[in-house]
Amino acid sequence: MEPSAAPSRRPILVIALGGNAITRAADDRSVEAQFGRTRATVELLLPVIASRRWRVVVTHGNGPQVGSVLLRSDLAAEAGALPRLPIDVAVSDTQGGMGYMIQQVLGNAMWEAGLHQPAATVITQVIVDEHDPDFQDPSKPIGRFYPEGSLGDLQEHGWVMKPDEQGRGWRRVVPSPEPREIVEAPVVAELLAGGVIVVACGGGGIPVVADAAGSLEGVEAVIDKDLVSALLAHELKADTLVILTEVEHAYTGYGTEAQRALDEVDADALRALAAEGHFAPGSMGPKVEAAARFVEAGGTQSIITDPEHLGAALDGRAGTRVVAAPTLAAGGR
Ligand code: ADP
Ligand code: MG
Repeated sequence: MEPSAAPSRRPILVIALGGNAITRAADDRSVEAQFGRTRATVELLLPVIASRRWRVVVTHGNGPQVGSVLLRSDLAAEAGALPRLPIDVAVSDTQGGMGYMIQQVLGNAMWEAGLHQPAATVITQVIVDEHDPDFQDPSKPIGRFYPEGSLGDLQEHGWVMKPDEQGRGWRRVVPSPEPREIVEAPVVAELLAGGVIVVACGGGGIPVVADAAGSLEGVEAVIDKDLVSALLAHELKADTLVILTEVEHAYTGYGTEAQRALDEVDADALRALAAEGHFAPGSMGPKVEAAARFVEAGGTQSIITDPEHLGAALDGRAGTRVVAAPTLAAGGR
């Protein structure tokens, strides 16, 4: 194996963990089950993290977990015990709780492997534009399903409610604006330079808006974790963005007889496939968009694969690898 560079010179690897890495539909909903699932995922990441070839940042989704925080908030509000939590605070709660879990599991695994490298979680705020079109027409369903009869009350809080397409009731929808700037990116960079494995941008980051003087304030919105991971990777000048999900590849003709795995693809070709409708909007679509954006902004490669294939994908032997279009790659970074 090639000798590893000094920690501060190793290339940066951003690993975005999908929902499945932490909890699966079949798992029970206990905290123990989440620890167990996270441990199993970390085992799969360990060879790459322990290889000392990379400075590693882990980002993660929070769908089921923020749903649980909001459910607790709702039940407490309905019982008259406590006011409802704003979403920015609910996201920050999941960053803390999930960050604790990931950093402990990762820290233990590193310790057991004889590698005394600490892991730390950064509560991460992400600036969005208050004029983002999604604030006018919110698109992201969040939290539990409500029966039609309870809508009056909820709309009084200013909530936008939409009927579920599968008829499971009504659900709150919130804006999902574009991430513009990651407030704590310089802190993440400092920690990486100091040899820390960093967990950041959990749940897409805490959405905040900046006023003219630069003061920040949380907003009722959620940010896509794949898009924010691409932005973080760019802001850190990372080498590689890896998006880990349930499937080994992005596929064309997914779920049809014509399904075909994408191995290496350039950003232009990938965008052309996206325009043909190969990637579902709420799931593979944002991953493909994030992968394309990162390499278009100068990153070396983006990878979409499952945790089982992380190592092989980094060696070019598995997963979907997205690279810049040849004309852009010529200049390097
Ligand atoms: P996350 O892991 O971040 O929670 P999602 O579950 O939202 O990700 O998205 C991943 C899922 O997208 C896959 O498990 C797969 O079912 C679905 N999917 C939709 N279109 C495609 C495609 N073209 N190629 C691969 N997977 C696809
Ligand atoms: Mg999912």
